[in-house]
Amino acid sequence: MFFTPLLFLQEMGVEGRLRLVMESALTARDRVGVQDFVLLENYTSEAAFIENLRRRFKESLIYTYIGSVLVSVNPYKELEIYSKQHMERYRGVSFYEISPHIYALSDNTYRSMRTERKDQCILISGESGAGKTEASKKILLYYAVTCPAHDRMAALGDRLLQSNPVLEAFGNAKTLRNDNSSRFGKYMDVQFDFRGAPVGSHILNYLLEKSRVVHQNHGERNFHIFYQLLDGGEEDLLKRLDLERNPQNYQYLVKGNCPRVSSINDKNDWKAVMKALPIIGFTEEEVQELLNIIASVLHLGNTQFGEGEDGETHITTETQIRNLTRLLGVDGSALREALTHKKLIAKGEEMISPLNFEQAGSARDALAKAVYGRTFTWLVEKINQSLALKVYNSSKGSSVIGLLDIYGFEVLQHNSFEQFCINYCNEKLQQLFIELTLRSEQEEYETEGIAWETVQYFDNKIICDLIEEKHKGIISILDEECLRPGEACDISFLEKMEDTLGGHPHFITHKLANGKTRRIMSREEFRLLHYAGEVNYNVSGFLDKNNDSLYRNLKEVMCQSSNQIVRQCFRKEEVIDQKRPEMAATQFKNSLMKLMEILISKEPSYVRCIKPNDAKQPGRFDEVLVRHQVKYLGLMENLRVRRAGFAYRRRFEAFLQRYKPLCPETWPNWHGRLADGVSTLVNHLGYKPEEYKLGRSKIFIRFPKTLFTTEDALEAK
Ligand code: ATP
Ligand code: MG
Repeated sequence: MFFTPLLFLQEMGVEGRLRLVMESALTARDRVGVQDFVLLENYTSEAAFIENLRRRFKESLIYTYIGSVLVSVNPYKELEIYSKQHMERYRGVSFYEISPHIYALSDNTYRSMRTERKDQCILISGESGAGKTEASKKILLYYAVTCPAHDRMAALGDRLLQSNPVLEAFGNAKTLRNDNSSRFGKYMDVQFDFRGAPVGSHILNYLLEKSRVVHQNHGERNFHIFYQLLDGGEEDLLKRLDLERNPQNYQYLVKGNCPRVSSINDKNDWKAVMKALPIIGFTEEEVQELLNIIASVLHLGNTQFGEGEDGETHITTETQIRNLTRLLGVDGSALREALTHKKLIAKGEEMISPLNFEQAGSARDALAKAVYGRTFTWLVEKINQSLALKVYNSSKGSSVIGLLDIYGFEVLQHNSFEQFCINYCNEKLQQLFIELTLRSEQEEYETEGIAWETVQYFDNKIICDLIEEKHKGIISILDEECLRPGEACDISFLEKMEDTLGGHPHFITHKLANGKTRRIMSREEFRLLHYAGEVNYNVSGFLDKNNDSLYRNLKEVMCQSSNQIVRQCFRKEEVIDQKRPEMAATQFKNSLMKLMEILISKEPSYVRCIKPNDAKQPGRFDEVLVRHQVKYLGLMENLRVRRAGFAYRRRFEAFLQRYKPLCPETWPNWHGRLADGVSTLVNHLGYKPEEYKLGRSKIFIRFPKTLFTTEDALEAK
């Protein structure tokens, strides 16, 4: 548990404090705001909250606390606050002694892990482009630089850092909202030995946005790796892969009409990835096989079909098939057949039927998505092997810090299956947050022997149940519909939800709504009233995306590939096994359940990231945009919970140390019990009984005003 930091005064470091001697404290507070929102006088006012953020942002103070939660506003410019010297400044220093920083949070987490011997986790959330991935990289860098190195594993920090460019090349893409947007969720455990040296790491990945492989919206790109390979790959390599430099020649790269991005240097990034792969343990052969797969996806995209006079579908691009056969090491005629026919097993018998033109195109795209998606999972596993504990086998005395960099609440113009999953994930995280924050508040009150005051808050369990409950939740209904091929469709899924969930206070459709609401909803939509706001989801595509299936004969072809990576991605058992694999939403639900178990066993810290404008520009603070995020991130709720009892708490010795000059009986030194010293001090200062409480080791102050008055008195001395 962190202590609530002190005041704006520490904000500016030593130089700043000297400057403040000449300014009145009030002016400084007016200019840079408070460094902890719990010190806001009007803590229930959203306007005051945003004004405080804005003031700080204008002064390039991008970090602010809500108690132990760090709020970060993306500066969209390089700030001189991340150097090694800055790291040193934050080492071993308490929150309240120094300006808020991601290093302060990293260091506090590390120290809590060391001293309390308890596993920690840092949960980073925020919308696309808010700075989550940058924050997680800064945390990792902090540990890589400041933690002692394990003698026999000195290279771990290096491998840890090198895994980033590789993961980003394969899992990130340029979107309208972020030039380097992570298209997957990531949870990373870093394990430390008994001396505090990082000794191993493990990554879990969630829900890669596979649809991007075959389609991009205008102004967006496919995953970076494709452009990196075309721009940076040597002539010989491209010749071997039969690729041309121009991305516009590839169907899977032209949809967004955005081959170049000014902020991205694909050539340099390619070099970084090629340098990183061997460091994280890829053999030369594995690198070549990986590139064969990337090239194959591009060739698949250019595979075209024609329709004969008899209505039969055939492949019109032989070169592509030859390339695929060669690069993936698969049988050409089997591949040709599998791209134009489907094989199904019905009542134990194999049935082969031709695909029409459209179906063949979908089968090709499904294969491209499956190959890319599974290769990505393989890549994460491979990185895990490289980061796993090799020398350090005993987990005795070791502890873990987990980092969660996962998509924030998403409301787009058109919300589909992906947004549904993402927002469901955020509901789960909110539930965890409420549970853990209340738990830790309650624990602190109990250890300090202070009566627990009940906090009123909205429990979003009702929404989680609506989505995930067995048999009658949305995911169950979706799965059931997917099991009725030929009969069910997206609209029948909607109707089934209406039958089962009609009357639920958080679920509305056109039919269930009345009057005004109905006019703004289409018949294809359902609306969920999330904790963070209302979202309309269009059911079109839900069944297909949840099914996420690949025809059997395409799987069979892939199983026989001579490419080792493809072979590991498409296992024979999958074809032999008749059991239907879990569907996408259920898989996601189960992986979230596991994630919740992991997180609940750890002591959490939070980083809430905010994007200040949509133009990706420095210095611009768009209040409307920020207000939305403050709402979606639940920051006001967060502050309310934190302020429910006491605004501020501080250990006796720290409180006494700072304010003893204000009382002749405690100055210059207090001899006696600390609690008595604090008691004497606050009596002298005239604190009223309702303004504070003394716990076992800390003083709890209810209102910021009390503290500000004391701080001003100190300033005037
Ligand atoms: P997504 O959900 O799309 O992955 P994200 O929250 O991970 O988004 P980032 O990729 O971390 O967003 O940040 C977007 C961009 O904002 C970065 O590429 C960088 O240019 C800028 N940025 C973010 N944080 C900082 C920072 N602390 N200092 C400077 N620039 C930053
Ligand atoms: Mg990201």
